[in-house]
Amino acid sequence: MKRVAIIGGGVSGLSAAVTLAKQSQHKSGQRFHITILESLSKLGGRVYSFTDKNFSKPIDNGQHIMMGCYRETISYCRQIGSMDKLLFQENLSIPFIAYADEITLLQAPALPYPLNLLWAMLSYRGLDIISKWKLIGFLMAMKFSNRPLSWVNESAAEWLERFDQTPQICSALWNILVVGILNTKPEIGSARLFEKVLREIFFTDSFSSTMVVPKTDLSDVLINPAIEYLGTRGGSVRFNERILAIEENNATLILTNCKGHTEIFDAVIFAIPLFALRKIEGIFSFITLPENDFDYSPIISFHFELKHNPLKEKYYALLASPIEWVFNHGSHISTVTSAATAWIGKSQNELLPLFKGELKKYFGISEDDIIAYRMVKEKRATFVPDIETESKRKKIMQCSLGNVYLAGDWTNTGLPATIEGAILSGKIAAERLL
Ligand SMILES: Cc1cc2nc3c(=O)[nH]c(=O)nc-3n(C[C@H](O)[C@H](O)[C@H](O)COP(=O)(O)OP(=O)(O)OC[C@H]3O[C@@H](n4cnc5c(N)ncnc54)[C@H](O)[C@@H]3O)c2cc1C
Repeated sequence: MKRVAIIGGGVSGLSAAVTLAKQSQHKSGQRFHITILESLSKLGGRVYSFTDKNFSKPIDNGQHIMMGCYRETISYCRQIGSMDKLLFQENLSIPFIAYADEITLLQAPALPYPLNLLWAMLSYRGLDIISKWKLIGFLMAMKFSNRPLSWVNESAAEWLERFDQTPQICSALWNILVVGILNTKPEIGSARLFEKVLREIFFTDSFSSTMVVPKTDLSDVLINPAIEYLGTRGGSVRFNERILAIEENNATLILTNCKGHTEIFDAVIFAIPLFALRKIEGIFSFITLPENDFDYSPIISFHFELKHNPLKEKYYALLASPIEWVFNHGSHISTVTSAATAWIGKSQNELLPLFKGELKKYFGISEDDIIAYRMVKEKRATFVPDIETESKRKKIMQCSLGNVYLAGDWTNTGLPATIEGAILSGKIAAERLL
């Protein structure tokens, strides 16, 4: 039986482990002894939930937005048995709020694809007639072109401007989508990557453009069922095991952990971020990595436990607020502020009045309605997918000599730093190993 170590228990590591465990089940398949080595005392990496005594339900480190085009994520959930914990929209529907009390729906009716999306754009009240036609012209150009319309050395903002997307279209649609998808400003994010994601969302099928929302907390959907799945298939997880070094000896790999212990494996999948991988002693003799680390972009989330929750929809997109998304969990609501570089240095007490003020302005939530609040700052939520980073990612090989493989949202998946990219990367690494 092959001994495989997976370093890092985020969703990319779990996806690699689940792919290998599934293969081990086949009668004719190879057998693996899978061990996940995780430096923290919990799994999930940047996807985790925790309890707070002032909140009635577990809260997530940050609300994660998923879509119908997250095919690998959906297939992973099917594999680990958590599909019933996902809420699937029937058709695209996003309530956008530009001004307090004025909700504009971007909503696709139950028409055949792609007529439903065309209808959604035509009936979107956030745009005047000229902007609607410019938007539809741009989308049609994308639909009927087999080649990318964006240039590799172009930012998302430059691309949108080149295709005559008016300031109104950008502020009513594109800006919030760029920031939500790339976690960086349109002036910085790679146009090529943004276009790729847009094509996945809008030009695959109508399901791809719908939102997929976890019914419970993220750990309950993506992490705990995977641990159970692995547990019943002979996989094991070890916590508080930071791996510090790797070396090769007689076609086996020796890992050294933070306690100074060494252990032998036949294959190793590193499913950790680039900044952590670069610190592993000996890694450069197995893999060529970018000379410098990537830049990272923060996300700030606020959670509010409420006495009375006035929100009617499951989520809202705010077009002119430091809060971009608000998600409704019944007893509590969660806000998302992506690309939050301007706010990340500020404390909870400094930011609280601003966020409470926005909730009052847009939803009428007063001080008296709030039972508890909790801010979560993730400084390195995602890498910044700018033009230079995207060109470096394209050169990363996910396997090397000596049975060392790479996974993680930053690897060469062709996707931004997302759950989908991470899950895909773990599957690719496991398939290469197989
Ligand atoms: C607040 C927030 C909001 C987000 N919103 C969205 C969203 O809406 N939609 C979306 O799709 N994505 C979103 N993302 C991005 C998504 O969470 C990440 O892309 C994904 O979780 C990355 O998974 P990963 O396995 O590649 O890396 P990680 O989750 O970082 O996992 C790496 C793991 O490796 C461990 N580790 C590191 N070094 C070592 C070592 N030396 N030895 C052992 N273990 C080690 C770490 O502790 C960690 O558990 C968001 C992220 C954040 C933080």
